Amino acid sequence: MQLENGMVLGRGYYGVREHNTAKVVARCEGCYRPIFKGEEAFDFEDVTMHDDIECIASYMRRNGSRYIAE
Ligand SMILES: [Zn+2]
Repeated sequence: MQLENGMVLGRGYYGVREHNTAKVVARCEGCYRPIFKGEEAFDFEDVTMHDDIECIASYMRRNGSRYIAE
């Protein structure tokens, strides 16, 4: 019984530790979350984002001009 509890706790701690020690290499200008080493990133001019359409679209919509074409 004690061993079972220990295993459950161990998994929980492992997950937290693994997340906290991943090296942050940049910050995404789309979602503002850190970009960890090993993640796919995307550079546009001097801006770094996750290589994720949601991040890229967020950045473009925030920094571009949206209008109804005439
Ligand atoms: Zn992002």
